[in-house]
Amino acid sequence: MSETKAQMDTMDWQQLKLDMQAAAESLGIDKIRISSADPFVELKDILIRHREKGFESGFEEKDLDKRTDPSLSHAEPRSIISIAVAYPSKLTDAPRSEKGAYRGMLSRSAWGLDYHQVLRNRLQRLETWIRERVPDALLESMVDTGALVNRAVAERAGIGWTGKNCSIITPEFGSWVYLGEMITNLPLPSDQPVTESCGDCTLCIDACPTGALVGPGQLNAQRCISFITQTKGHIEDDEMKKKIGNRLYGCDTCQIVCPKNKGKHWTQHPELQPDPEQAKPLLLPLLHMTNREFKERFGTSSAAWRGRKPIQRNAILALGHFKDTSAVSVLSDLLLRDERPEIRSAAAWSLGQIGGEEAVLALQNAKEREQDPIVMKELEKSLCPSGS
Ligand code: SF4
Ligand code: SF4
Repeated sequence: MSETKAQMDTMDWQQLKLDMQAAAESLGIDKIRISSADPFVELKDILIRHREKGFESGFEEKDLDKRTDPSLSHAEPRSIISIAVAYPSKLTDAPRSEKGAYRGMLSRSAWGLDYHQVLRNRLQRLETWIRERVPDALLESMVDTGALVNRAVAERAGIGWTGKNCSIITPEFGSWVYLGEMITNLPLPSDQPVTESCGDCTLCIDACPTGALVGPGQLNAQRCISFITQTKGHIEDDEMKKKIGNRLYGCDTCQIVCPKNKGKHWTQHPELQPDPEQAKPLLLPLLHMTNREFKERFGTSSAAWRGRKPIQRNAILALGHFKDTSAVSVLSDLLLRDERPEIRSAAAWSLGQIGGEEAVLALQNAKEREQDPIVMKELEKSLCPSGS
């Protein structure tokens, strides 16, 4: 019998699991639970229906088998280790948004250092811990970019339950947790799913500004502000532009209203703590940010993955939302000179929202020279809001 096989046969897996869970805090992890590595058969059916209804965001892994069937490169997967790292929900010393100095908001998941980096670090520490005890263990870690649906793994492992807002809600930390997982060939015994649930509550569904929660635990990503703020193109739906408000990246509304998150705010991971000026930045200085300035300012945040354009477009919409008259000259300049049509159409909408002589003049000037049909349509709507 090989040494590896002998170790696998004689190992006390229950004890290893308990030791691992006891070591979680020292590894910078808030919760570790184990699930089987069986395929997520029911989930696949749900994802097929979700796709048929056109509810996907477009950011998902396209191959549904990869998302629902755990696999390892060189062996049979025998268990999945699911981890949670809790993050802050409150901005202490938040700068005020006020007339002439309005501010936007990044969602909590974009505060502090990019959570992908933080989770990768935690999973690496966990891998080292396991290899010190089982040197030949096969371990494959995943953070978001992994194909497997991490919420399904977390639910089966007993990290939390899937709330009606589609977040994993842990009894200990609420839904303010990042999730990661590691597929292994170790036969670790499974934990039990949590028994707590949402009960009769529907607060998140009622509070969603766009009706994106089309049912309990069912999200139409095409209507979800969190996804829309991450797109790079034009936002043509006027209602949606209004509802985005001052959100620059992501949306936390359905988590903020959740009673299971009441009083939950986590400060144990220094690298996840927000810089208030980054989490709630002044809008006007964002508009002329170069790529280099964007990288310096937001490069370490998870909000940077789509580049600066979505954030600039959303900042323009936010100035329209605030009807900030002090922004008219900057917006007019963008409308007339920016090369990016998505930026010009957002500026046209915002100037229409702000109104006044100077804004109208800029819209008229732009109408004389604009070549892009979508920007032109926006200009016409802004100059003639009632369609008359
Ligand atoms: Fe609705 Fe915002 Fe939640 Fe999306 S993130 S479902 S838009 S409340
Ligand atoms: Fe569940 Fe209510 Fe929280 Fe929605 S707001 S996730 S229904 S507990």
